[in-house]
Amino acid sequence: MDIKKQAPLASLRDRLTQYMEERSMRKTPERYEILRVAGLASGIFTIDELMNLMKEQGEFQVSRATIFNTMELFVDAGIVIKHPLATAAHYEMRTDCNPKAYVICRQCNTITKVSTSTARLALVNLHVRYFGIEDKLLYMHGLCRKCQAKNRQEARKKNLNKQDKNNNGKRKS
Ligand SMILES: [Zn+2]
Repeated sequence: MDIKKQAPLASLRDRLTQYMEERSMRKTPERYEILRVAGLASGIFTIDELMNLMKEQGEFQVSRATIFNTMELFVDAGIVIKHPLATAAHYEMRTDCNPKAYVICRQCNTITKVSTSTARLALVNLHVRYFGIEDKLLYMHGLCRKCQAKNRQEARKKNLNKQDKNNNGKRKS
């Protein structure tokens, strides 16, 4: 892990400490360990993925419920972004406050961060009257490349089957 990646994580750690101190919450080592391991996850992750990463990289093991509750706490503390998808919630470390754009495939339910700045630039100047925007997250729904290819292949197969049936029918008559 390079220092660049460690720097924002250190500030997230500070924010967590401040959040818990302000609310007189217990600063348990589990919470800091979950934050450290979540910081190792690249990009967007689910509770299950974080659970597996804890098993591999964690200094100690915690229950799924603890991870879930801790992630909710991280969301409240503003150190994690929660993407509430239909299948399972996905999380991402909030290393900056820049606008973010994502594409969600309606077929395989994968969520991918859009790296092009075009979508993000469109959000920079977006303001809503009488509303204090804290996060600018843009979700675009559609079909991913894999699913498009899969659907094309299946459509081709169906057409071939239809042709076969038609040919067989012709032969019989
Ligand atoms: Zn897909």
